[in-house]
Amino acid sequence: MNAEIIAVGTELLLGDIVNTNASFLAQKLASLGISVFFHTVVGDNAERIETAYRNAFERADMVVTTGGLGPTDDDITKEVAAKYFGRELVLHEASLKNIEDYFKAQSFTFTDQNKKQAYILEGARAVQNDNGTAPGVIYEQDGKTIIMLPGPPNENIPMFENYVAPFLAERSGAMFVSRRFRICGVGESAAENMLKDIIDAQTNPTIAPYAKTSEVHIRVTASAKDQAEAETMINPIAEKIYAILGDNVYAENDTTLEACVMQSLIDNGLTIAVAESCTGGALAARLINFPGASKAFLEGAVTYSNEAKVKRVSVKQETLDTFGAVSEQTAAEMAQGVAKASGADIGVGITGIAGPDGGSDEKPVGLVYIAIWRESAGSRVKRYTFLGDRERIRARTVVVALDLTRRFIKSS
Ligand code: ATP
Repeated sequence: MNAEIIAVGTELLLGDIVNTNASFLAQKLASLGISVFFHTVVGDNAERIETAYRNAFERADMVVTTGGLGPTDDDITKEVAAKYFGRELVLHEASLKNIEDYFKAQSFTFTDQNKKQAYILEGARAVQNDNGTAPGVIYEQDGKTIIMLPGPPNENIPMFENYVAPFLAERSGAMFVSRRFRICGVGESAAENMLKDIIDAQTNPTIAPYAKTSEVHIRVTASAKDQAEAETMINPIAEKIYAILGDNVYAENDTTLEACVMQSLIDNGLTIAVAESCTGGALAARLINFPGASKAFLEGAVTYSNEAKVKRVSVKQETLDTFGAVSEQTAAEMAQGVAKASGADIGVGITGIAGPDGGSDEKPVGLVYIAIWRESAGSRVKRYTFLGDRERIRARTVVVALDLTRRFIKSS
């Protein structure tokens, strides 16, 4: 089965809002084994919406729309669908009651205009909206299905998760189970090359790599009659992934890199402190994302100036004078200094040139040193030259620092 996503809304077309619904829906549809080959964004214009439907249904069996189910005159997603399929819009009593109840609960005044949202295509099914007024609509005709969902993500996402996904899974008669392998330390094309044989041989389960900032995620999705059968199908692929990528696979499913680091610190009874220059506290912020971070995270220092590096984390003036602020030696002293100052078992030091200015032939923009120190292991420092703009260099530095810390805890 293949599907297309049509996001309706002039705000989207003008770039005033970002089409996050399409990215959510595309991922969800893929995890249900439904291929999406086209996304469309169209403004609130009847003629152009109809053209979008026509084009999409020429290529796909199913269209999922988002937006344009509101009460105002420019919300016309359903109206155009009714015209396209040659159907009337009819009042759906249960939806009307839901809308009235919603208005009462919020002490809003219900007007006739609001009633518009309770109309759905004749013969369609309404999809309950637990977080707003507009019901979703599922309509099937001549082997084609249109699923219309509201625009606001806080309505769209739960509606899809709670009602549409189960409907699609039941209709396909199969269950789709995914396992996501999270990889750091190998680039996307390297990971794809390493897994080439299993990617090339895929049918069911399917294997899809996704590039993230300095990470790669591999999603393996099996279509099976039940969970147990799906797991039996995924397990041999999981074994191959681990055999090929080893400890570059840091976790599965929703476990983040920072969660991995924090959990292993806690499991090993260790504490951490970080001294950051070019990342400006972003590493500390990532570590503190972890609920319960206080069990292991002691301190984060943003030692941006040379004075701060000397004063706060005991970098020697001589080191700065001899090797410079962006150097292996400075990073090592930052890591050790912040650990000693805070009493943490492990210290991390980051210093680099995020640009756009400040680079030289010897020390170009993107040059970053990441040091990790522990009494028993001393300092380990790594040098990187990251490509990209300031934001990207800093983001990659944080991910790589997390990954190095994860590996350091394991090996020291
Ligand atoms: P409402 O009843 O709120 O009018 P609606 O279904 O008519 O819902 P729209 O009016 O199209 O939806 O959009 C309402 C809001 O939802 C937008 O202002 C925007 O904040 C958000 N939104 C709409 N479409 C998208 C999208 N594709 N991705 C992310 N957010 C969206």
